[in-house]
Amino acid sequence: MDRRTLARLLAAGGALIVLGACSMLPAKFRIGSRPRNFESRDFVVVLAQPGDTPESLAATFLGDPAKAWMIEDYNDARDLAPGQEVVIPKRDWNARGVFPAGYQLVPVLVYHGLAPQARGRLVIAAGAFAEQMRYLKAKGYRVVRLADLIAFTSLGRQLPRRSVVLSFDDGYKSFLLYAYPVLKELGFTATLFVYTDYVGTGRNALGWDDLRRLAGEGFEVEAHSKSHGDLRRAPAETGEQYARRMQAELRDPIASFQRQLGLTPRILAYPYGGYDAALVEQVKESGYVAAFSVHREANPSFGDPLMLDRCQIYSDMTLEEFARNLTVLHEEEIR
Ligand SMILES: [Zn+2]
Repeated sequence: MDRRTLARLLAAGGALIVLGACSMLPAKFRIGSRPRNFESRDFVVVLAQPGDTPESLAATFLGDPAKAWMIEDYNDARDLAPGQEVVIPKRDWNARGVFPAGYQLVPVLVYHGLAPQARGRLVIAAGAFAEQMRYLKAKGYRVVRLADLIAFTSLGRQLPRRSVVLSFDDGYKSFLLYAYPVLKELGFTATLFVYTDYVGTGRNALGWDDLRRLAGEGFEVEAHSKSHGDLRRAPAETGEQYARRMQAELRDPIASFQRQLGLTPRILAYPYGGYDAALVEQVKESGYVAAFSVHREANPSFGDPLMLDRCQIYSDMTLEEFARNLTVLHEEEIR
């Protein structure tokens, strides 16, 4: 191990790491069977062998190839050269995503319908969507689950440095036709925010059976109200009328999801992105743990889970304009 590696480990884990050198560790800390240069409770250090990838090392030492991002992020490298020293962190080392140069942001992208050709601003051309997804893959973005973002903002659970969340609003059948195949090909996941009055209402709408199958494949299905009306209290509405309307808009979807999908939605997308303090209170009381607007910002770990932001992707955006929504670091010198 060179001095730089040791310095980094000491900075991250303190003197315990030195005391916990490999030979002194109980067997339960030795996950893989490969020789290692160094091991502590928090890190393993190995020399890369020919054929090693972040995925293969994550499978061996972390028990899950999907944790390759931990190795890539810690070593700041996507490819490993034989003989290269690789530090494998065994657990979160920067849960809040704070770096010397700033803090981490996680963009959540919003799509609506897709079609062979763009229609209006909200129906995006299937080809443009595929191009955007391939761009994410090529640039090393990691599409993470919405639940992981909520864990990041509420519990401080570390996410890959270049994390992005994909979401699709309203529940259009076109998701299955044009987005699903591309997401499957690239190994991406996504969240569908559906409003329950629309589900199963015709050939353009996803049905409960579609949603059940998608949920079974790991896609997240979450709430977008019952009727898709603006959920803020109207000027003419009495407190009692508003409470009754929120009962239907916020709690009926929970009952429908439980009945139809056997799951309880915990996350809401505000229709049209609109919310105010009174609505946030209703949302919290109804049992939701997070809610999203369409304010064009990415989210830091300290964002309020009931006022998170999303970036709407429009059909007339160039790839360059699309990429401007992918900010993953708020630059600011942190002391
Ligand atoms: Zn909507």
